[in-house]
Amino acid sequence: MDLVLFNTRSRRKETFTPLQAGKVGLYTCGPTVYNYAHIGNLRTYVFEDILKRVLLYNGLQVKHVMNITDVGHLTGDRDMGEDKMEQGAKREGRSAWDIAAYYTTAFKEDLARLNIIDPTIWCKATDTIPEQISLIETLETKGYTYRTGDGIYFDTARFEQYGQLSRQDRDALQEGARVEKNLDKRNSTDFALWKFSPENVQRQMEWDSPWGRGFPGWHIECSAMSMKYLGDQLDIHCGGTDHIDVHHTNEIAQSEAATGKRFFNFWMHGEFLNIQGGKKMAKSEGNFLTLQNTFIDNDIDPLVYRYATFHSHYRKPMEYSDDSIAAAGNGLRTLRGQVTRLVERTGGEKSPIDDSFRTKFLCRLNDDLNMPQALAVVQELLKADLPDPVKLATIQEFDAAVLGLELDREVAADPLPPEILELIGLRKQAREEKNWAESDRLRDEIQDLGYVVQDGKAGMRVIKK
Ligand code: AMP
Ligand code: ZN
Repeated sequence: MDLVLFNTRSRRKETFTPLQAGKVGLYTCGPTVYNYAHIGNLRTYVFEDILKRVLLYNGLQVKHVMNITDVGHLTGDRDMGEDKMEQGAKREGRSAWDIAAYYTTAFKEDLARLNIIDPTIWCKATDTIPEQISLIETLETKGYTYRTGDGIYFDTARFEQYGQLSRQDRDALQEGARVEKNLDKRNSTDFALWKFSPENVQRQMEWDSPWGRGFPGWHIECSAMSMKYLGDQLDIHCGGTDHIDVHHTNEIAQSEAATGKRFFNFWMHGEFLNIQGGKKMAKSEGNFLTLQNTFIDNDIDPLVYRYATFHSHYRKPMEYSDDSIAAAGNGLRTLRGQVTRLVERTGGEKSPIDDSFRTKFLCRLNDDLNMPQALAVVQELLKADLPDPVKLATIQEFDAAVLGLELDREVAADPLPPEILELIGLRKQAREEKNWAESDRLRDEIQDLGYVVQDGKAGMRVIKK
């Protein structure tokens, strides 16, 4: 079955064929670690996780690289403003290195809470400075760079196809770029490859280079890291839609100028999570919600957020509201309840899965990751006239391979007997009604029957002693 994906480069759905049979090189732009990721950022990472899982479900091997931007991303996308890392360090009275380490750990924890599979390779901008310098040297040798008072710049006028990804010619992009004017640049779309450390300010992160002491521009890291780990012609590169006009446009320019080859075949972009009224969630807007403050602190399973994102296609904006999260919470609880009842009824009987449902599910996924439709297939399966063990095995495969919702979480390890499941149900109800005395009584009853009850941030877990 063909896997069809929307390629931003052509603005069309195209059949995906890896460059090397059976193997996919996937590069996803990672976070700038000067603050927590907000749930908008995390929507993009869930979309990329689904993409990766669907590639795997199609039997492809995936080598996935994700970078950590820990230097060089300035507050203005066009090489103006302050380095976000140094800004974060000032805000918190810690070093830029400490900030980077702290928010990288927090980010990885968020991914784990959302059942996002780790990339094959994590890489940090600060660990690949020599590779970035060497790429800039290649561009210099080929005549694509020039020097200004504050750095080495890429001359976009020398790269004819500049702006192809954003479908804007250089004149239109120049117009947009003029907002933050850097008078030294030849063209306003030109971008920094290397910035010099300011003379009167001691930067925390800086390196020697053939052009002087300084730090890399933001875009060069992704080109250097993707080529280092995946080669100079690659399959799929992803990010949020905000990366199309500047970051990815510049990555293409510098990479293709350096190698003379097409950089990535597929560019895929996830739409934004907005807050009510269509306003995008952004760290700079001060309206940002994290997984911690919105889910964990309110005792909401973070997988409710994963599930909520499945209801909007990744290329459509998603609107955040407390009501939509409550609805997703109810939906997930119902789904888990249905799976739990299947486990109860089958008593752990193993069964092969239903092939026609697998094909149907894969068909929806292979149509540009249509998760709303894939969820509809799950509902159809639950209502289908099939033996319970077949239904259960099929849904467990969908969950393990793609959904990642732990639908059988309460029962996966060792199926719990019906009387325990009933007590769990009663205790959940008591907790929802905030009837703590009854909840405690039921916990004791479950424990007396030989089970351990754990109340974690993500809900109740019951395990045999
Ligand atoms: P950053 O840490 O700012 O570099 O962003 C990390 C990722 O999140 C990038 O792929 C962005 O395109 C994406 N992103 C930023 N804001 C949003 C949002 N509101 N909704 C979805 N994705 C976003
Ligand atoms: Zn990037």
